[in-house]
Amino acid sequence: MDRPNLTVLTQALVTRLAFEGKEVAGVEFQREGKLHRIKATCEVVLSLGAIQTPKLLMQSGIGDEAELKRVGIPLIEHLPGIGRNFQDHFMSPCVWEAREPTERRNNLAEATAIWKSDAALDTPDLQSFMVGAPYASPQAAKVAPPPNSWSLTTAVLRTASRGRLRLTGADPRDPIDIQTSSTIRPT
Ligand SMILES: Cc1cc2nc3c(=O)[nH]c(=O)nc-3n(C[C@H](O)[C@H](O)[C@H](O)COP(=O)(O)OP(=O)(O)OC[C@H]3O[C@@H](n4cnc5c(N)ncnc54)[C@H](O)[C@@H]3O)c2cc1C
Repeated sequence: MDRPNLTVLTQALVTRLAFEGKEVAGVEFQREGKLHRIKATCEVVLSLGAIQTPKLLMQSGIGDEAELKRVGIPLIEHLPGIGRNFQDHFMSPCVWEAREPTERRNNLAEATAIWKSDAALDTPDLQSFMVGAPYASPQAAKVAPPPNSWSLTTAVLRTASRGRLRLTGADPRDPIDIQTSSTIRPT
């Protein structure tokens, strides 16, 4: 953070890529109720995660032409793969209440097991780990897990499902429609 060539802005929502012709020239973002635009001197690197990165691309006009037209976003580049091939690497934590106070003493995932749900599989498809703390999403944390609690969580490895991400509107604050392969709906 001491580096003179680094600025970190928190509470900033990137809303769109800014273009010069078809070239990405910077980003637009909202912060404290104001819209800002930053021009890139070299390049723009997007790392908004597996869901928000394709969302921002589509919001900016890069995606499947018919999809963008459906929500009224002007096309910059027809790239039909954006929002497709979504791989849902989900994890399911379970929080347990302990009788005694629990200590926060490790990196939260030191005890882990990588295992097979079926011995006939070539390689493991599940990973479980023990966390010495309530390991909860912001949504689950609203129900206030007990203070003396620990968690056992399991994630699916090598997920086979392939789903799709779709915009619900042109406004950057419109939520993304996440369709896993089992919930995918015909267009
Ligand atoms: C269940 C699971 C287990 C994993 N286990 C491991 C592991 O053991 N080891 C490992 O190396 N990797 C692991 N990974 C992968 C790792 O978490 C990801 O590869 C990594 O977090 C990706 O980093 P990222 O910065 O691209 O995206 P993220 O970590 O998703 O960060 C994106 C950030 O962008 C912000 N953001 C999103 N949209 C906007 C916007 N419009 N404006 C401003 N900010 C925005 C988000 O708030 C977030 O802070 C795991 C992933 C999963 C799902």
